[in-house]
Amino acid sequence: MEQREKLYEGKAKILFATDNPDLVIQHFKDDATAGNGKKKGVIDEKGVMNNAISSSMFEYLAKNGVPTHFVKKLNDRDMLVKKVSIVPVEVIVRNRAAGSLCRNYGATEGKVLARPIYELCYKNDAFNDPLMNDDHVIALGLATEEELRAIKRITLQVNELMQKFFLALKIELIDFKIEFGRCKGEIILADEISPDTCRLWEVGTGVRLDKDRFRNDLGNIKEGYQEVLKRVTGK
Ligand code: UDP
Repeated sequence: MEQREKLYEGKAKILFATDNPDLVIQHFKDDATAGNGKKKGVIDEKGVMNNAISSSMFEYLAKNGVPTHFVKKLNDRDMLVKKVSIVPVEVIVRNRAAGSLCRNYGATEGKVLARPIYELCYKNDAFNDPLMNDDHVIALGLATEEELRAIKRITLQVNELMQKFFLALKIELIDFKIEFGRCKGEIILADEISPDTCRLWEVGTGVRLDKDRFRNDLGNIKEGYQEVLKRVTGK
């Protein structure tokens, strides 16, 4: 697979074209940001760890019937994925209260929610990723009603599968953010699934194994990602 020109550079990843117009390379960087880019840093080897963790998550989800953009892991930092057009909506599921749910709604961190919260945010840094409902998404033309139905169905399936997957590793999935893309008329899971995009707490101890270690200056940031990597891949 020949790597060609850079198509897009985001905060944590770079997309490169390949000699196949239907496939792109997703390259994982060590850069970390929080609070919509206000806090910046580097987490040593994060790109390598997130590529490995994301690859394992996509493989597991695909095996269980979830349509994803994942094709294969190419090397330490690169993943081959199907080219999609990203739906500019960040889809969040919460199983316990944390982060913005506590800041904006006063919930106590760690509160077990009576049922999972399915949340949509506009993927737009200039506007601070505001919370939106189905009507905003459809009225603004970001996705169709049918696409939103597919997104919700797949997202709830991903939550069930990922909760089960992590619980077997003695990790609790507190919340996560996923993104979807359109590929040949179909909605498929895209982007990444990693400790950058999930809150993961060790069962029993509540030790944070995710980007909250960076966001909240908890120390041992790399070690948190390493622990997830070790449990997910056995390495
Ligand atoms: N999240 C993400 N990217 C974002 C915003 C949130 O990956 O731009 C993830 C975050 O890691 C957490 C979940 O989505 O697992 C819910 O995040 P929250 O709304 O609580 O935002 P935060 O407290 O991180 O600002």
